Amino acid sequence: MEDVLCDFCAAPWTPERAMVEGHRGSCICHACLAVAYAELSPQPSRQPVGQGPCTMCLEDRGEPHWQSPARDAARICRRCARMAAVVLERDPDSDWSRPTA
Ligand SMILES: [Zn+2]
Ligand SMILES: [Zn+2]
Repeated sequence: MEDVLCDFCAAPWTPERAMVEGHRGSCICHACLAVAYAELSPQPSRQPVGQGPCTMCLEDRGEPHWQSPARDAARICRRCARMAAVVLERDPDSDWSRPTA
């Protein structure tokens, strides 16, 4: 796990920093997911639609994305943010819970 980095903030995967894997080894850490999740809900219609494919699912669905402020090319779509939130909440090693608005 040493070389796994968050695609959104470049932080390494550690036992204290839970991550969720997307396609092709892309990862988002719990901290980035919390920000992304909060910004993509509950009023996603306010969010600008990102340009280009989602880093996690590699699809460009024309849906709202959260764009990483740290890494230009990193973005996550609402669907992936929700899926990652579910995965992380179920992870027994993680005490993460989705932020409440
Ligand atoms: Zn991160
Ligand atoms: Zn996606």
